[in-house]
Amino acid sequence: MNIPLVDLSAQHKSILGEINKAISEVIKTNGYILGEAVELFEEEFARYCEVDYAVGVDSGTSALELVLRAWDIGEGDEVITAANTFIATASAIAFTGAKPVLVDIEESTYNIDPNKIESAITEKTKAIIPVHLYGQPADMEPILDIAKKHNLKVLEDSCQAHGAFYKGKRAGSIGDAAAFSFYPAKNLGALGDGGIMVTNDPELAEKVKMLRNYGQKEKYNHLFLAYNRRLDSIHAAVLRVKLKELDKWNKSRNKNAKIYTEKLKEAPVITPIEADYGEHIYHLYVIRTNDRKPLMDFMKQKGVSSGIHYPIPIHLQKAYSYLGYEKGGFPISEEFAGKIMSLPMYAELSEEQIEYVVNTLKSFYW
Ligand SMILES: *Cc1c(COP(=O)(O)O)cnc(C)c1O
Repeated sequence: MNIPLVDLSAQHKSILGEINKAISEVIKTNGYILGEAVELFEEEFARYCEVDYAVGVDSGTSALELVLRAWDIGEGDEVITAANTFIATASAIAFTGAKPVLVDIEESTYNIDPNKIESAITEKTKAIIPVHLYGQPADMEPILDIAKKHNLKVLEDSCQAHGAFYKGKRAGSIGDAAAFSFYPAKNLGALGDGGIMVTNDPELAEKVKMLRNYGQKEKYNHLFLAYNRRLDSIHAAVLRVKLKELDKWNKSRNKNAKIYTEKLKEAPVITPIEADYGEHIYHLYVIRTNDRKPLMDFMKQKGVSSGIHYPIPIHLQKAYSYLGYEKGGFPISEEFAGKIMSLPMYAELSEEQIEYVVNTLKSFYW
């Protein structure tokens, strides 16, 4: 058997006809840039997230950055986020000129530890970006309390959490704004790069709309320096097709994760913990092991792909050495970076495939 980490062909199989139709429709109308498909998708995605506004952009990184810019965050400001996240969270902060300030993660959820946030706050702090890593929401209530107390904005990095729940609320509807990525392998993915920001704040949505489109409200009237960071209509049209399947896919991922966790009970690896406050949508199924390198090599030989998300925490990345953090600064993130391993995870994984992954893993040990 050959089992990839993600299998987009399996995902597209059942909806390929609809996808082709959606793309043809855009070609027929020639509305490639900010056309009807983008507007309709923005409405549908906002409704899905239970918020009032959504603004489509060209990537998750742009969604994060443009929200920070719309809040006038930049040079001289600080923004707090987790030490163990995808590099783009920190990049988006740094692109604005602000300084990424890192906080270690919780052992249980791999998400930012709310108990460690306050000691990272200074007079320069303007916002907190909790990351819903691997598809499980961060513990938002204490984070919102801290933000309120210190008058900070909260931007959810929901790039791995399309459709997850926190205390009955959709990920993305809890903070002041949220950013999602439609990178193809995300739970909701385009056929290329894409992203979106969501919010209940009409002024913020309006500002991001201008930031993504040359700073104009009317054509050729530019009110401030801005970018070309739009979501393409073809992507939006495809995303409209996929959005209808998302809850079903997420349920299936969660079911697959539960099968993994049950079957791995006796194996000498640490399986994910689902916090009782929410619903995990398993963008990634991440275990911890002391034998990662040999285990990954062994499984690869047997046809099972695996991954590491992420092997180097932000503060130990060369690109961020200027922040001045040292080794040992975020012990949990550092320890876990050496042990985490992502197993194949997608909605279409069959029980036989899961069985094969688990048996392969066990045969390494037994
Ligand atoms: C994917 C991702 C991003 C960036 O999204 P892009 O669309 O690749 O720019 C940001 N944060 C996290 C946590 C991500 O997983």
